[in-house]
Amino acid sequence: MAARYAVGVDIGGTKMFAGVIDLESGQVVGSQRKRTHPERGLDFFVKRLTDVVAAAIEAADLPKEAALLGIGAGIAGQVDRASGVLLMGPNLGQGLDNLPVRDLLQQRFKIPVFLGNDVEVATYGEHHYGAGRECDDFVCIFVGTGIGAAIIQNGVMRRGVTGTAGEIGHTIVQYEGRICGCGGRGHLEAYASRTAITRVLMAELSRGRESKLRELLDPKDSAIRSKVIARCIDEGDQLVIDTVSEAADYLGAGISSLATFYNPARIILGGGLIDATTLLFDRATLRTHESTLPAATRGLAVLRAELGDNSGIIGAAWMAEAQLAHLLE
Ligand SMILES: [Zn+2]
Repeated sequence: MAARYAVGVDIGGTKMFAGVIDLESGQVVGSQRKRTHPERGLDFFVKRLTDVVAAAIEAADLPKEAALLGIGAGIAGQVDRASGVLLMGPNLGQGLDNLPVRDLLQQRFKIPVFLGNDVEVATYGEHHYGAGRECDDFVCIFVGTGIGAAIIQNGVMRRGVTGTAGEIGHTIVQYEGRICGCGGRGHLEAYASRTAITRVLMAELSRGRESKLRELLDPKDSAIRSKVIARCIDEGDQLVIDTVSEAADYLGAGISSLATFYNPARIILGGGLIDATTLLFDRATLRTHESTLPAATRGLAVLRAELGDNSGIIGAAWMAEAQLAHLLE
């Protein structure tokens, strides 16, 4: 059988990433990434998106007879899957609300396009090519700017009655605790996301606490990058170790509640901060095992995601093929 290829695109608030994927192996044949710059507005966004996809196709340099089945795209926001429209993406800015992403890409590339959410496509990637292979009951949790999750139940994605299933970042780990980006209080995302860790570190620095961060921070950047956090931990920086440890304890509490309540076979942790540090993963896993009902941990494996940064593009390409075969509802 001839090789099958599709394009996968992962569109986040920080970067856009596109790749041509060999659907048999999940290999990335060619890819391109660029910064999103959502503040530069709609026209810039649309041009950048089509440029990134075109560059990935060019980089793949497929033989003439090899056809691309389609394009799958996962975007950081709420989407209408049937119409391929981005409804809203808080990290992309309001200027992109109601953007017809599917039609824009379809007009330009003349192949079928399917739109999903970024966490959804990354979970498809792990399910079919990564740490969720041969497992039909698991939860993927991605820790980054926010904390998102998706549930695979009996082999299919469980979305919930109104599509919010998996929003573990907005479950409560501290009653009446810190204010979350969504306006609620005490949510996991306000304690264990990179945004939350950044906020604590910045507050401690401004109180005068000593840290290597003072030399490593980029003054132009309001966020603290995962690799900077990782380097501080490796070099024994006590402030960063304390802060990430506290975040890990809350993450473990959140995962523990999930494990006890939902009793999945696997919980897969991914995202920039998990990939960059072992402290967050190891300590959150330890806390999970300490606090979960023993009967629920007996069959539970807490694993790292295997595809790293590629989970979104690989899963998005898989989604395009599955949609074309009418495998998804
Ligand atoms: Zn929240």
